[in-house]
Amino acid sequence: MNSPSTPVSGSLIETCDVCIIGAGIAGLNAAAVASQYLSPDGKIVLLDRRHRCGGMWVDTYPYVRLHQPHPLFTAGNIKWTLEKHRSYLAAKPEVLDHFAHCLDVIKKRVRVVEYLGWTVDSHTESTEGNRLTAHSDTGQRLAIAAQRVIKANGYGVTPNEPLSVSSEQIHSVSPDSFDIRSEQMQASETPIWIVGGGKTAMDTAYAAITEYPGREVNIIAGEGTYFTNRDSMFPRGTRRWWTGKLPSHLFNDTALRFDGTNEDEVRQWFQATHGLEPIRPSRRFFNGLLSEPEAATISSGLATVDMEYFDNAIDRPDGVELLYRSGATSPGLSRK
Ligand SMILES: Cc1cc2nc3c(=O)[nH]c(=O)nc-3n(C[C@H](O)[C@H](O)[C@H](O)COP(=O)(O)OP(=O)(O)OC[C@H]3O[C@@H](n4cnc5c(N)ncnc54)[C@H](O)[C@@H]3O)c2cc1C
Repeated sequence: MNSPSTPVSGSLIETCDVCIIGAGIAGLNAAAVASQYLSPDGKIVLLDRRHRCGGMWVDTYPYVRLHQPHPLFTAGNIKWTLEKHRSYLAAKPEVLDHFAHCLDVIKKRVRVVEYLGWTVDSHTESTEGNRLTAHSDTGQRLAIAAQRVIKANGYGVTPNEPLSVSSEQIHSVSPDSFDIRSEQMQASETPIWIVGGGKTAMDTAYAAITEYPGREVNIIAGEGTYFTNRDSMFPRGTRRWWTGKLPSHLFNDTALRFDGTNEDEVRQWFQATHGLEPIRPSRRFFNGLLSEPEAATISSGLATVDMEYFDNAIDRPDGVELLYRSGATSPGLSRK
């Protein structure tokens, strides 16, 4: 962290042209743009409650990869230093390295004072400008006077805790704190149950199926999630010169089909033309991308799929019973 300005009455004081709350991809994009408009002696104060830049990528599960070709995920027009084909989906450490690289590039253009490990508590705006207060993990306090404030604080994505279960036979883990590819997991042959139907669940299913061929992998997928087909949006090889679809065109096409009443029809059109459903039928969508081979690996590799919401796992004399929110139950451990 840069050294802070004058302490006054126990608090630190900063003045700046632009104060950015959040050092994720949105915050770094804001800094990249601000660096183009500020004079070289301009000053940005960048705050994040996390201790390094990268936003939710800092804490999310270790086997996460970018959904899209890596050059598209950047701050401003800053180029990646990774020497990989443009279609390569960067892994978490590579994404975090790129965040650090972006910040280095921006710091060469404009003065950036970083407050990482600091949380912004308040912001008021008046004719005199913006006033913010923040505190550090160690209890220090900071007051900021800024001409402009950019709130790039994201969705508040925080790591998931393991689900609590009554059964003593089930080892419940969260992908955010337990790597499914770990030695502990490799040393065991017990069936895997994945709770969730979204991108994290698909990445986890894919990792489990490809890492442990022959091991039983099951999923409890709620209403199921469908994804945008990455192969049709970002085709690889020579196809990328004559096919593919810009995300903005896809959203435009979809929006123009909607007349205010026909959401089911639009959803069905989207699913049929651009969607991928590793689990059928799926009703939820959150703009995650998946490739056809990934979807096929997941579909064919899952032993069982329950379109239910998990509630608990309970030890019974004859094994473990899974209890669902609907009231339905299912025999837990191996169904083979
Ligand atoms: C598992 C997963 C995979 C994803 N994969 C992709 C992908 O491949 N491609 C893609 O485009 N998108 C992906 N996304 C979506 C992703 O959330 C966004 O791409 C992006 O990283 C969000 O950036 P952000 O800057 O908006 O928010 P965040 O990354 O959440 O950053 C916001 C930052 O603001 C900080 N903050 C919040 N409040 C305060 C406060 N009061 N004081 C100080 N700091 C504060 C937070 O600590 C955080 O670090 C994925 C999301 C998840 C969960």
